[in-house]
Amino acid sequence: MRMNATILFPLCLSTLLAQDTGTAHKAAATALLNSNNSGAARLACPATIGPVSTANSPGGPGRAGGPPGGAAKGGGAAKGRGPAATPPKENWYAEGGQVFDNLYMLTTKVNSAWAVKTSQGIILIDTLFGYAAQDAIVDGLKKVGLDPADIKYIIVSHAHGDHDGAVKFLQDTYKPRIIMGPKDWELSAREADPPRHDIEATDGQKVTLGDTTVTIYITPGHTGGTLSVLVPVKDHGQPHLAMEWGGTALSGGTSKEMLESYISNAKRLKDISDGAGADVIIVNHTEYNDALNRFERTKARKAGEPNPWIVGKGEVEKYLTVVEECAKAWLAIGDGRP
Ligand SMILES: [Zn+2]
Repeated sequence: MRMNATILFPLCLSTLLAQDTGTAHKAAATALLNSNNSGAARLACPATIGPVSTANSPGGPGRAGGPPGGAAKGGGAAKGRGPAATPPKENWYAEGGQVFDNLYMLTTKVNSAWAVKTSQGIILIDTLFGYAAQDAIVDGLKKVGLDPADIKYIIVSHAHGDHDGAVKFLQDTYKPRIIMGPKDWELSAREADPPRHDIEATDGQKVTLGDTTVTIYITPGHTGGTLSVLVPVKDHGQPHLAMEWGGTALSGGTSKEMLESYISNAKRLKDISDGAGADVIIVNHTEYNDALNRFERTKARKAGEPNPWIVGKGEVEKYLTVVEECAKAWLAIGDGRP
């Protein structure tokens, strides 16, 4: 046995090295795809294996008002803001609502924000585009019996307009504390009407409001200060743990440094999520895990049926492996290993 292992080792190693290519990493991601992650792969993986592909750029066609392409390079964060970019409501409006005892999806067709209800108010994760604030956030909360005046914290996954677009409005209106990654405070400061600088997130930071503690991780890659979160949720009183990977999309314009950071942070969050027992995936782009469909299934759920958001630890791990492999594919392509 010992001899076999010695002989096999160099072979395995050379096979592994030979597989560090865009094609191999995309294939590794593709092998794991299902409805819990395939949308994430569409936005994170190279659409075609080639050094100049921008086919899945987050700012590409069909994402009117979406975050600017080459998102990871920073700058241009204000693109897509303002009245000129406001599309007609029928183009973006989508119904959200309750998905756990204490978690509410506030959404548009493209983006989701999340309201965590605690014993002492609301922690809001992301804010959507500014134009959706009234209908999706303010009225969305009222519709489920919550009071937007109870928003005490807003955690911003990253400073792109589709997630931080309503921060200033909500800050002015309800006076919550705003938490962003330090680098993304810098990004947001370049916006036309930036929010007032508030709390700079730290890695592993625990945000406690009443009976609930959300944990924040700084996971750069999509932007320099992207935040991911773990959120304790309850389903009919049973505790579960939700994971949000705060910045998913990559493009041909994402720098090598950001890709390397993305890869190591996806790996790190996988270990953290695994250790903490995360078994629910929440997303800030509905496409990532088919969230609109999932919400419809949640609404139609009958007593005794499983909650469509509870996917199990293995699926959380798979989601983070898929995005990690997508980033590795981009990295390999950039290094001339298509
Ligand atoms: Zn973004």
